[in-house]
Amino acid sequence: MKPSIHPQYNVITASCACGNTFETGSIKSALKVEICSACHPFYTGKQKFIDAGGRVDKFKKKYGI
Ligand SMILES: [Zn+2]
Repeated sequence: MKPSIHPQYNVITASCACGNTFETGSIKSALKVEICSACHPFYTGKQKFIDAGGRVDKFKKKYGI
């Protein structure tokens, strides 16, 4: 394994279109991504669903439903 033929692997701060930033490894010095774990529909959908459920429960308790 010759280091000279391998690109340098840096830990960089990637910025997402949603405004979230996270550290990742890349051969690039900067990284911009369209989507990340904070705004990916799979994650956000799941989290929003859980949040919504909690809010509904609070709402129901508040109004004694
Ligand atoms: Zn994002």
